[in-house]
Amino acid sequence: MTASIPDNDINLASDIRAPSSVPVDDAVLPFEVAALDLRGRLTRMGPALDDILSKHDYPAPVGKVLGEAIVLTTLLGSSLKFEGRFILQTQTDGPVSFLVVDFQAPDRLRAYARYDEARLKEAKESAKHSGILLGNGHLAMTIDQGADMSRYQGLVALTGGSLEEAAHEYFLRSEQIPTRVRLAVGEEWSGGKHRWRAGGLLTQFLPKAPERARQADLHPGDAPEGTVVHTVEEDDAWVEGQSLVSTVEDIELIDPALSGERLLYRLFHERGVRVFKELPLQAKCSCSRDAVASMLKSFSPQDRADMVKDDKVVVTCEFCSSTYEFTPHEAGVTEN
Ligand SMILES: [Zn+2]
Repeated sequence: MTASIPDNDINLASDIRAPSSVPVDDAVLPFEVAALDLRGRLTRMGPALDDILSKHDYPAPVGKVLGEAIVLTTLLGSSLKFEGRFILQTQTDGPVSFLVVDFQAPDRLRAYARYDEARLKEAKESAKHSGILLGNGHLAMTIDQGADMSRYQGLVALTGGSLEEAAHEYFLRSEQIPTRVRLAVGEEWSGGKHRWRAGGLLTQFLPKAPERARQADLHPGDAPEGTVVHTVEEDDAWVEGQSLVSTVEDIELIDPALSGERLLYRLFHERGVRVFKELPLQAKCSCSRDAVASMLKSFSPQDRADMVKDDKVVVTCEFCSSTYEFTPHEAGVTEN
């Protein structure tokens, strides 16, 4: 493995500025609670999230689960220091069968979801929970550092749990870093206009002495009755860190009037929290007419011919819904 998710090497020498009471949307704010050996990141999203979700006119439950995946991606991918990509994907058997979020360092995000409208309607009453919408399958996280570099892929099973739970499982099993993740997505109505907002918090316990990072297992498993369950006592600092993080409410994560610094101060002020330079995020697709044209060239002549409708080939980008129109000749369709 050449890279870990996330790379925890936050540069402590980077700019440290005074806590601000001005809320900043579409940014990731790294922080540190040195007294508890905690490091983390706080994401707040407004217009960029709204831009991605409203291009597709998703039903609210789909927007919500894709919003969670987007926030999770920003928490994990924003530590990439190279011109790389972090891609989060889910493939599952629920009404929302496929999610993909593509984060391109340092700040570009795009995403889309596939869902079954009929099944979504059936599930409506209970569909408030991302675990029910997704169902069973897996979550894959890929770091792509470019052509000459190795790819890293982390996989975690989804078994009806939320994306938060999947992230915990991933960090426990694969990274063995004590981690808590919180994700919140909400809809805001102001002046008759609908807007999506979201927020997320990732907190990790990174003590210098690795033996302090021991973790209690998430599930006792289905051991036979009478088996002595091996109990792990967690470090006091991590116990305290988790209990502080557990007090954060969804409304605080998405509140447009509450700055990230104020929120972190609210959570950790007794121990002292330092924030670092925030990393901006933007909704931006990387599709282009040239890229679509070269993708068409990779198709078989028959596939290209099948795409001709009304004497033209129209390709729609699944990420941003942009459409690209080609003549059959431009699309490389040869007349028979
Ligand atoms: Zn696009």
